[in-house]
Amino acid sequence: MELGLCNPVVALMCVAAAIAGLPRARAQSSYYDRVLFDNSLTPDRYFYAQADVQGPSTVETIAGRLPVDGEHFHTPPNALRLHWVSNDGGGWQAHIRVNEWRNRLLHFTGDTLTFWCYESEPLSEQNLPRVVLRDAGRTSSYGVDLAPNLTLNDEDHNFTKPLELAPYFSGLRPGRWTRIAIPIRAFHSSTVHVLDPQKIIAVVFSQDKADGAAHTLLIDDISIEDSRQLVVHTVLPAVRDVTATGYERHVEVAWQPLTNTGVRHYLIYRSLDGGPFEPVGIQVPGIRRWEDFLGATDKHAAYKVAAVDRSFHQGPMSAPVSASTHPMTDDELLTMVQQASFLYYWEGGSQVSGMARENIPGNDSIVATGASGFGVMALVVGVDRGFITREQGAERMLKIARFLERADRFHGAWAHFMDGSTGKALPLFGAYDDGADLVETSFMMEGLLTAREYFDRDTTSERELRDRITRLWQGVEWSWFRRDPKNDAIFWHWSPDYAWFIHFRLAGWNEVMITYLDAIASPTHAVPASFYSSGWAGGSSYSQPHKAEGVELKVGEGVGGPLFFTQYSFMGFDPRGLHDKYTNYFDQNRNMATINLKYCERNPAGYAGYGSDDWGITAVDGPGGYVPYEPNPANKYELDDGTIAPTGAISSMPYLPEASMHALKHFYRDNGSELWGPFGFRDAFNQQQDWVANINMGLNQAPMVVMIENYRSGLIWKTFMKNPEIKQALQRIGFQPDPPKE
Ligand code: CA
Repeated sequence: MELGLCNPVVALMCVAAAIAGLPRARAQSSYYDRVLFDNSLTPDRYFYAQADVQGPSTVETIAGRLPVDGEHFHTPPNALRLHWVSNDGGGWQAHIRVNEWRNRLLHFTGDTLTFWCYESEPLSEQNLPRVVLRDAGRTSSYGVDLAPNLTLNDEDHNFTKPLELAPYFSGLRPGRWTRIAIPIRAFHSSTVHVLDPQKIIAVVFSQDKADGAAHTLLIDDISIEDSRQLVVHTVLPAVRDVTATGYERHVEVAWQPLTNTGVRHYLIYRSLDGGPFEPVGIQVPGIRRWEDFLGATDKHAAYKVAAVDRSFHQGPMSAPVSASTHPMTDDELLTMVQQASFLYYWEGGSQVSGMARENIPGNDSIVATGASGFGVMALVVGVDRGFITREQGAERMLKIARFLERADRFHGAWAHFMDGSTGKALPLFGAYDDGADLVETSFMMEGLLTAREYFDRDTTSERELRDRITRLWQGVEWSWFRRDPKNDAIFWHWSPDYAWFIHFRLAGWNEVMITYLDAIASPTHAVPASFYSSGWAGGSSYSQPHKAEGVELKVGEGVGGPLFFTQYSFMGFDPRGLHDKYTNYFDQNRNMATINLKYCERNPAGYAGYGSDDWGITAVDGPGGYVPYEPNPANKYELDDGTIAPTGAISSMPYLPEASMHALKHFYRDNGSELWGPFGFRDAFNQQQDWVANINMGLNQAPMVVMIENYRSGLIWKTFMKNPEIKQALQRIGFQPDPPKE
């Protein structure tokens, strides 16, 4: 394989290289410029808090992680529990780490470490732990070297000298939460490296005096604050327009966001079945909904919402609203998943450009080209399902089209990532990736061509939209990416500064079939149709029929790869009823999904959870960062660590509707308390490691919206396939209708 799996991996390896010069994050990501910990998504142990213990001292852990306390917390629903015994000759450290995600720039702006503490029995100054700060050292951003095992002895990381906590704990009283504030300048570096307070990556509690007694300290809301803000009390108005909507197992609470920049978070109170109102959750600014997973039907709950300021003063409560959970049909469940995932793009999109973020939470200033193309297809579904009006959809589309016109273009192609305000290309995957990304551009065109056919009415805005999309389509110089007239394939990247330095010849089997379809279909800069067989299908491994998990695969190697191969190109391209000289791609995709399902049922590694309702292995950011996961026990990269992506199984809906629905219900009904969030299913989870992604990904939510719709009505397939250029391209390539079935 010349490209396929290798590229994203290689690209992500480069992430740590260069993020200088990126736009500063805003809105909800400014929350994460202060907050290091607020809550654990998992109720038992916190994945990002690891304890390292040397006997005879002890620290209570669950599989090496600090336990989570769901009864006592400063912000609901939980806090971390540190329970220790310090003995002579032993030692312990509890590392509470930043939860890093793709494109998260560590950029703490404050000068004071603060956290909230609760002790049920008084701790004397003699038996407090000590605290250490650790910064990211030379690895200054999200990268494979930081995440996997919370490596404690990594020399790249700078530790401060342990700080005695006693002077800062004088106000702590048993039985109530107290805020501790320690100026960062009180921490002194333990080496010649000076601590970088902007890049603090962990707060580490450690053994001090060995008194041989058991102590417990609950810790919550760790943040790096501006000392001038610590005591500022912002007068916040009541939250308005609060609504509650009941679904099968959860209630969604929504509100009108406050424009006040002094909001730290929103606090949600619930009264269950007529009981008292209790705080149950918080939501960050920038997201106006919160999902309360009640776990059963016929539960009745009332809610109030209040805003909380930067120094944790709560504003007035909203008026109460209530809702009940109730049984839902399969059809209604499908719509629920589609609508929630659609909102990733509709509510979570960039205000200026209308384009999609790479991930939420993430860097609010950055938009991603491929994710935006997928988002356009989700938008079309959103209009058709009535989530938004047709006029709203057309207006958003015009905003996107106008942005794409003024954004940086390189021979008509766009970069992978752009500044959502200016359209300037951002080389996030390393300095050489500062130009065109043809694959991302082809995903964008897949969406735009769908929209051009869907918005077909004779109105001013829809006419304008079609014209603009046609001009964008005509402007992409696909043939330039041939690089040299001697070549019989197209190449992924071109940079005005580094030309073809990132030398990736595009070849299948993988996600780039749509890139070849677009390039061959172009009305202005087409490549020869023969590139389909010489480029896309030109590798020696493309067509080697074989079996995996007892299922025949005509195309691709091993198990065929991650499931996204069966989704990205086939959100628009309808593979039903036609074949090329190698196979029918509906069969190919169904067989790959079947291999994935069978592998998870067989569960050769014995991972927690795996089974007929718990499958869907595909490339995602797992517990240790990005991995192109695939269900391959023989894979030398060991690309299965127990991580399942809901999008893997759910976006296989057209191929394996029953197994896909089975998984959807399991993810929602059995795992919904951790997995279901304001944009639908969170990106991935790993029951083996008790880990849940706290992000949604722009490349993963839309395939659920679109592939469920293709299963239900075929809408996006029919709409994309109406494009005359695509029809002609398929003919030129040599696709043939399938013979009638016996
Ligand atoms: Ca909390």
